[in-house]
Amino acid sequence: MSAGGSAAGRHAAERRPRRSRGRTAAGPSDRRPAAPSPADSAPPVIEVRGLTRTYDGGSSTVHALREATFDVARGEMVAIVGRSGSGKTTLLNLLGGLDRPDAGTVHVDGTDVTALDDEGLSRLRRESVSYVFQTFGLMPALTAAENVGVPLRLRRTPAAEREERVDLLLELVGLREHREQRPAELSGGQQQRVAIARALAGSPRVLVADEPTGQLDAETGLAVMALLRAIVESEGITTVVATHDPVMMSLADRVLRIADGRVTE
Ligand code: ADP
Ligand code: MG
Repeated sequence: MSAGGSAAGRHAAERRPRRSRGRTAAGPSDRRPAAPSPADSAPPVIEVRGLTRTYDGGSSTVHALREATFDVARGEMVAIVGRSGSGKTTLLNLLGGLDRPDAGTVHVDGTDVTALDDEGLSRLRRESVSYVFQTFGLMPALTAAENVGVPLRLRRTPAAEREERVDLLLELVGLREHREQRPAELSGGQQQRVAIARALAGSPRVLVADEPTGQLDAETGLAVMALLRAIVESEGITTVVATHDPVMMSLADRVLRIADGRVTE
């Protein structure tokens, strides 16, 4: 039994108003009061322990990730910030089981992702952890609406329910009028909004975004990021986003820095 089994049900039950938005003033310790409320004592959605990934770089070994250890609380948005080559993509790929570590563990909702077999990983990706990539990753032959509906098809959501959810998501990202257009007929910002809608279609527990605004101009990137922030906040989705965009950092609840494969607060 994986964490994915009843993710949607739990997710719906756990929707709640977020804590107040005093993030700029509050340090991490301010968010951990001496007498924890029930929400604060809930186990983290993501637990990373000693996560290590090395690549065989031919003549030398590349230490892409070195014993990363951190938690992400339910509903929290964490930014992973570091320069190119610092290990961001390596880390994000390990969170959702797109890659396997050399050592260490990732737990999502208590399930050890690093111990899942291929079938378990497919279920995790289908039901619990979804991704937004820098290059959008839409299917070129499908319309915006069909792209958003892909995760729902994989989950065998009935057609009427699927259409309703697709319309809702396209509305949410402001693209209802563009539902029949294919990716090539959309701007970069619009394509990324389709990708965000698709990532949210299956009501994931965790959203992983790898430099989602990296291919967008500053203004479009900011609009996309603000949208992402608003949606994950209202849906209570735990989010990890890699970025070196200072605006995105300021939208996150917490920033983790990564340099040469080492993660620090
Ligand atoms: P970032 O996303 O922060 O730019 P990456 O996680 O992609 O960083 O890469 C971290 C390090 O691991 C870099 O030195 C990169 O060259 C190396 N690396 C990433 N993927 C591979 C791979 N498949 N094979 C060998 N080296 C890799
Ligand atoms: Mg990267």
